[in-house]
Amino acid sequence: MDPRRRSTEKPPVQSLHEEDSRRRASDALPLPLYLTNALFFTLFFSVVHFLLTRWREKIRTSTPLHVLTFSEILAVLAFLASFVYLLGFFGIEYVQSFLLRPSDDEDDEVVVVDGRFAACPQSLDLAAAPPPAMELQLLPQDDEEVVQSVVSGALPSYSLESKLGDCKRAASIRRESLQRITGRSLSGLPLEGFDYDSILGQCCEMPVGYVQIPVGIAGPLLLDGGEYSVPMATTEGCLVASTNRGCKAIHLSGGATSVLLKDGMTRAPVVRLPNIARAAQLKFYLEDPSNFDTVSMVFNRSSRFARLQSARCTMSGRSVYIRFCCSTGDAMGMNMVSKGVQNVLDVLQADFPDMDVVAISGNLCSDKKPAAVNWIQGRGKSVVCEAVIKGDVVRKVLKTSVKSLVELNKDKNLVGSAMAGALGGFNAHASNIVSAVYLATGQDPAQNVESSHCITLMESTNDGQDLHVSVTMPCIEVGTVGGGTQLASQSACLNLLGVKGANKETPGANARRLATIVAGSVLAGELSLMSALAAGQLVKSHMKYNRSSKDVTTHAAAAASS
Ligand code: ADP
Repeated sequence: MDPRRRSTEKPPVQSLHEEDSRRRASDALPLPLYLTNALFFTLFFSVVHFLLTRWREKIRTSTPLHVLTFSEILAVLAFLASFVYLLGFFGIEYVQSFLLRPSDDEDDEVVVVDGRFAACPQSLDLAAAPPPAMELQLLPQDDEEVVQSVVSGALPSYSLESKLGDCKRAASIRRESLQRITGRSLSGLPLEGFDYDSILGQCCEMPVGYVQIPVGIAGPLLLDGGEYSVPMATTEGCLVASTNRGCKAIHLSGGATSVLLKDGMTRAPVVRLPNIARAAQLKFYLEDPSNFDTVSMVFNRSSRFARLQSARCTMSGRSVYIRFCCSTGDAMGMNMVSKGVQNVLDVLQADFPDMDVVAISGNLCSDKKPAAVNWIQGRGKSVVCEAVIKGDVVRKVLKTSVKSLVELNKDKNLVGSAMAGALGGFNAHASNIVSAVYLATGQDPAQNVESSHCITLMESTNDGQDLHVSVTMPCIEVGTVGGGTQLASQSACLNLLGVKGANKETPGANARRLATIVAGSVLAGELSLMSALAAGQLVKSHMKYNRSSKDVTTHAAAAASS
């Protein structure tokens, strides 16, 4: 296997570098990107026109070309400046194809925050180029000898990819070593059929195989006039079938509508000042609207897609938690926002040299933990989705009545959850749908915690004939670039939804569409499970789909041997 082969979905290293160079070029003036481009374009063509006119005149009057007037010197300088800018912005890809190697990329710095890892340059380099000849010579060519070195502890398991320069071989040797060390078999865990190069340095370390999760399709979900076949990766029987039934009810009733209220990823570092007076000074400085432009200019340098929306401070004694919120294009955005935060902290240190950065994440963010701040202020995409389900459809498809659903929703999702002291859990099973769609589409499954915050409301409408149902989800954290979205299977699922990769025309539109699809799917799931409960069908359907009478051991054995 060619160790240089890469997954194609993540922007290639070269294009990341290109972006970075463009970003630097576009930072030439503290103006919006389109204004900076327009300014330099105008300058370039004006001076070219001026210089050509002057040149023609000189030829006509036989004036030596190298004798320059002051205005011509200025024009030449302006020509050079605009040329360098335009080359930096538009021509960098061409130039870099000659000058730069992928390993020069800066966008791939390691950022490790709350368990989320960005690309790691060392490993990428190692994947991109064969390891140094010296290292290869030190390793035995025979797999068996390498396994023995790992088992004896002479060769660290984590170094196999870099030492061998072959990710698949590294995984195979690690797996064999592990089986020998533990004395336990991994025979049910497949090794073949996976592109180990595509995960190196960004998705998983020390792989020994991959877990298979079946993907089922619910839908079509009719949402905002479009139809979506929703991929769900799950091993819970009933889940896809149930969501599918909800989609059918929505479709027969004319579809669902969604509204995206907010789109901003957050990161809240904790910093400590010598005393509360200094801490308050920092808070007032950051929250003063007249400082926002400066702070956001520094923050936005992290990426051309990062745009700071707010920086709210919470004080606790002499500690300040600064909750930065920014839009992140089509990326879920944790790395992007963390880089922006780091930029601001570095610059703040000049005005607040006594500020001690305790941690870049102070948990007020709040990532992968249930927290009221997310439920109230939102995190990622805040979406509301509604549908009016016809009474007839409630009876024929959902096998219950509008009245029963409205009552059950009050007793279960509102009062029951209130009595349980729920935080964002005013729903029947939003996390079931969120997790299944997240796994299928390469999202961070740990963000299921806050992404599943949801309040489901049901009321009768049209004189009690029909059902108005809505889900309000303030923290849907999804992206269509970065992380696991680039892997072959996950990107195929994104492709099915028509939201694969970066949206070129409107950066961020793919991720926002995916968030609304998540909310629409949750709406379908809520409708169906609530109906099953109202009709007393839950146990019956689970016995049918979730407790198969097939001999599963025979099936597992057959699958493992195939
Ligand atoms: P995250 O911030 O979600 O962890 P990554 O940093 O891993 O995401 O990936 C985002 C990368 O994708 C950035 O380097 C960014 O420049 C690049 N990118 C390309 N197109 C887009 C886009 N439309 N929106 C957001 N990021 C994009």
